[in-house]
This record gives sequence, C-alpha cells and structure tokens, in this order.
Amino acid sequence: MKIVRFNSGRIGVVIDDTIRDVTEVAGVVPGEFPPVGPVRLIAEFESRKAAIAEAAAKAEPIAFSDVVLETPVPWPNKLIAYPVNYHDHATEMATKKIADVQGYFLKSNSSLSGAGQAIELPNLPGREVHHECELAIIIGKEGRCIAPEDALDYIFGYSCLLDITVRGREERVFRKSYDTFTPVGPWITTADEVGDPTDLTMKLWVNGNLRQSATTKDLIIKIRDMIAIASSASTLYPGDIIATGTPAGVDKIEHGDVVAIEIEKVGRMEVPVEAGDRGANIVFAKPYIFERAS
Ligand code: MN
Repeated sequence: MKIVRFNSGRIGVVIDDTIRDVTEVAGVVPGEFPPVGPVRLIAEFESRKAAIAEAAAKAEPIAFSDVVLETPVPWPNKLIAYPVNYHDHATEMATKKIADVQGYFLKSNSSLSGAGQAIELPNLPGREVHHECELAIIIGKEGRCIAPEDALDYIFGYSCLLDITVRGREERVFRKSYDTFTPVGPWITTADEVGDPTDLTMKLWVNGNLRQSATTKDLIIKIRDMIAIASSASTLYPGDIIATGTPAGVDKIEHGDVVAIEIEKVGRMEVPVEAGDRGANIVFAKPYIFERAS
C-alpha cells in the first residue's frame, strides 16, 4: 500500500495514480496539534489495514494535481540519520568519519517537509547548500536491542528522503536542521510492496541532470544493522524515520532548481528550490568553500 498525507493532514491511499481519501478510517484528525495521527496510524496499522483498503476501494479518485502533498509522518519521535554510509561519498568528502565509526546523529523533526513544499534556502552568502539522496526507513513497531536478523520485521515502509545540508565545519545537526531541509515522500510504500530492500536503485537529478546514482547494495552499514545499532541505544517507536545515508554526487542547489529523487519500488518525488530571505546567523557568517576530493 502507498500511503499519502495531503491537504492539512488528510490521509490517502494511492490507487491507479490517484489518491483515495481514507482519513476517517485511518483514525487521523486533520489539523490536529500535535500532528501525531500518522504515528498512531502506523502503530495501529495491522488492525486498521482491512478497513482502510475497503474504504480506499470505494472512495472517489482525487488527482495528484488537485492536492498539496505533505510529509507522511510530521511528528515522529525521532529523525535518525546515518552519516557517510557509502564509500564513494566518503572519498568525495575526504573523510574517515564513516557511519560504522560514527554511529547515528539526529536531525530536527521540524526540518521535515513534503513533496508539495519547496526547499527554502536560507540566506547564507558564501555558503553552499547541498542535496543528499537517501532512502528513508519508516519504523513500524516499538523495539529496543533489535537483532539484525529480526530488524526487517520492524520496518513499516520506505520513502524517498532528501537530506539537505549547509556545507561547513559547524555542528552537523545545525547545518541540517533548517525548516524544509528533510523532504520525505511522496508517500510511504509499505514494506510488503518493496520486499527485499538490499538492492534498490536510487537516483537523483537536478533540473533533469543526473547527479547521484547508487544501489542500497553499496551501503556500508546495511539496513538491518542500522536498525540494530540505533536500537542498541534508543528505543525505536512507530513512525521513527531513519535516513540511511547518501552516495557520491552531492552538490549545490540554487533558487529555481527542481530536485527529483527516485527509488526503485518506493516512488519518485520532485521538489522545487526557492531562495528565502531568512536564516542568517553569526554561526554561518564566515564563508566556507566546499572542495570535492575526487
Ligand atoms: Mn545524509
């Protein structure tokens, strides 16, 4: 099943390239604060799945062009991210701080945005803002100290994720936590539709030019192990999101660009980039020149 969130918190299922509104049977209240309905929906999904499928089959089709797509899980307990998790990206960044020696970091949950929302570039003269093409794992059930061999059972589904980043030497969390710096979408594809996630191709284009291309086969820490490592320290909850890391090819995005990301069996999302007039601060006042190592 492909589950979308749209128009101020409504929930839909994608059938024949159209949206079927299932908000009511999903048990989600549009516009609620905090917007935790999708987290509850994921936690309760097994008991609601049949009713959702039935409601979706009966609902009127809604065209994607008539809605604004929103981030599928706007209020997760955690947005986990693995740094440098592909060797070719480690090479281009000239870093040895690879995921298997660094562990995970967190991005601000409020950086999450959806397919229908532009990436707002902060006004930081002398700084580059880069795209990172990543597979997102959406956790389906609570767990601590999850064994690698059990880890796939904890995955609810997958989404496309852009880990947008201000380049520099400052605190990574700060450089990656501006609002709209984590577009996720265009929907969640449930794990049963994806099957084996160990060799999914993923690609990213800017204005139609291919910038990143890889497969999850090349991940340094594999999907199972990412879940095991994260849950060795932290209880994972339904709706938690794991950004699995980017391959080589990260590069600058600018006003007017359109970033497209496509992941095999998961989906494709296109997000425009707009220059904002806010976001400056003393931390980013010094310019930083990004130099690719290879
Ligand atoms: Mn990243």
